[in-house]
Amino acid sequence: MKISTTDSRIGRKVWEGTAFLQHHRKLISVPLREPTGNIPLSMLYFVNVNMAFGAENMGVLVISFDAVGDKVFEAMAADGNYPNVARFKREAYYRGGLKTIFVSNTYPIHATISTGKLPKDHGVISNLLAPNKNGERPWAQMAKNIKTKTIWDAAKEKKLSTAAMIWPVTCGAKIDWHMPEVHPEKGQNIVLRSFMYGSPLFQIAAQLRHGRKLIKALKAGGGLLELDSFVTAVTCDMLEKKRPDLALVHLVSYDSAFHYAGSTGRETEIAKKALDANLGQLLKSWGENTVIVFSDHSQLDVNENVNLHDIYGSAVFEQVGGSAFVSGPIRGLEEQPWFERYLTKEEMEESGYADKPVIGIAAKLGYVFSESDKYKGAHGYPTDYENYNVFYAIKGKSFLLGQKQDWLKNRLMDVTAIIARELDLDMDILKEYGVR
Ligand SMILES: [Zn+2]
Repeated sequence: MKISTTDSRIGRKVWEGTAFLQHHRKLISVPLREPTGNIPLSMLYFVNVNMAFGAENMGVLVISFDAVGDKVFEAMAADGNYPNVARFKREAYYRGGLKTIFVSNTYPIHATISTGKLPKDHGVISNLLAPNKNGERPWAQMAKNIKTKTIWDAAKEKKLSTAAMIWPVTCGAKIDWHMPEVHPEKGQNIVLRSFMYGSPLFQIAAQLRHGRKLIKALKAGGGLLELDSFVTAVTCDMLEKKRPDLALVHLVSYDSAFHYAGSTGRETEIAKKALDANLGQLLKSWGENTVIVFSDHSQLDVNENVNLHDIYGSAVFEQVGGSAFVSGPIRGLEEQPWFERYLTKEEMEESGYADKPVIGIAAKLGYVFSESDKYKGAHGYPTDYENYNVFYAIKGKSFLLGQKQDWLKNRLMDVTAIIARELDLDMDILKEYGVR
């Protein structure tokens, strides 16, 4: 599935909220023996089919709200227009005001959530890899780019079942029900690549059932509302039928909309509505099992796109949105209107760029470093920027309201620790958190 921050386009179609398939669990009647014998055996108890057959599991559903900052999530929860977000936040254990991971882009952060390690350790330091022989920069989408143990591999060790939908950096991973996020290189077919890197039979069945939504998504340029709608419909089916122990879902349309329309754009507003509806569908399909919703990074409005390659040519190592890396000191850099500051030693280390012969710079608010000139919103900024924090929210038996969670550290990586603890995975992060 193509969700590129560099080439997806904003569609003009209004999201068709009514297009979602409604999945209702069948209610069946099961005669239960009353132990005291006071109630006649003929009395019927209406029991949810999942409960009746013990299908409620200890599984964890993790939903990534790409680019939805904590303030946006909180505003949605306080606004009557997003009933599913409002209800979920009300019932969940919520933590906002969290700094994200630097560089604050989708692939490094998702790899951190998937491993409980910083980019410098897991190795996915950018959305993109070094240029290939054609001069293109492929996406860091293959799971083998992650150098440390992942939650899906740890789950497999425990013989748990796993699912991942459009979850970044999973191409080729051993996941049972799998539709990875795929960015085809020139001349490659996205659907075939998705089959190759995911579960082909599962994907064929999904396309037979919900293919119309996917066709709409591809026609619209990918990364738009139709893609989330397709992914949600497929995920709901999968959650209901397969009941995986670990399910990872990545919803991307809000990120795409914000990039191209900014915080107040019409498309961004439509994307928020869609996100709320998608959350509602997923929660309904998953029942009372544990759900974690989190955001990878926030986004900030942009007034000016600056292509550093046009100014400094080959001295530019990489532009990553709100930050950039250049080789060697450049005279007059500090005087530029878009220059905020140099990246600190800590930022260079955390991001994994410290061992490269580069200097990091941060863009001033309102500016983005990019080859594109179309951005109205961006991320990739240092994590101390204002209104740039992220959140997580958890609903589940171990996170009942009012229950203290002293073992957590109030940071985004808590998400990994929670997944590992809920599923009893053998992950380093549990030692760090004192759970093991
Ligand atoms: Zn993202």
